[in-house]
Amino acid sequence: MSNPHVLLLGAPGAGKGTQSRRLVDEFGIEHVTTGDALRENKQMETEYGTPAEYMDAGELVPDPVVNEIVKVALEEADGYVLDGYPRNESQTEYLDSITDLDVVLYLDVAEDELVRRLTGRRVCDDCGATFHVEFDQPEEEGVCDECGGDLYQREDDTEETARERISVYEENTTPVVEYFRDQGVLVEVDGERTPDEVWTDVRDAVAERAD
Ligand code: AMP
Repeated sequence: MSNPHVLLLGAPGAGKGTQSRRLVDEFGIEHVTTGDALRENKQMETEYGTPAEYMDAGELVPDPVVNEIVKVALEEADGYVLDGYPRNESQTEYLDSITDLDVVLYLDVAEDELVRRLTGRRVCDDCGATFHVEFDQPEEEGVCDECGGDLYQREDDTEETARERISVYEENTTPVVEYFRDQGVLVEVDGERTPDEVWTDVRDAVAERAD
């Protein structure tokens, strides 16, 4: 298997973006992330309104909008890491109908740690690299170490919206984690360690199934 199909599950702030970037570099696959795709199309008019109306409140964007984004992205990808989707049971069924997964990874992180990570997170507006105001500071404040781009705070990374996103996650996405756990295909990874430690487990799990 030279082009693994990887699903990365975990709450907002669990480290999915960081680990996805490493998977892209290591395995030469595409990063398919509904969060980024929606942020790029936040003001797009759909029959349900704009994605922004849901995202700024920390709520889920309606399934038909998100399903279509994923369908197109997966059709175009030769190997992928899917991040931020599926987030509920209906998206899980849809995903099942359009692709086969090789690995399902779950990054496990406790709620207080998620809030700390989200509220201190800063993102590069150019390459998407993430930093943290306390735990992972860039060399120069406000400037991306990797590409020199400007760092910004996502509008939904305020404490109130972060907590709402985590509670929406618990309610909607916990059944998704259970679904894959019941199928016996879930690889659970302790996400509270350093990015390098988490990466060792993530890489090994994918490499084992890529043989
Ligand atoms: P994220 O970057 O994954 O934290 O996503 C940011 C926001 O985009 C979420 O709070 C939702 O409003 C929206 N979003 C991302 N992925 C999905 C999805 N699979 N289903 C519905 N809404 C989503």
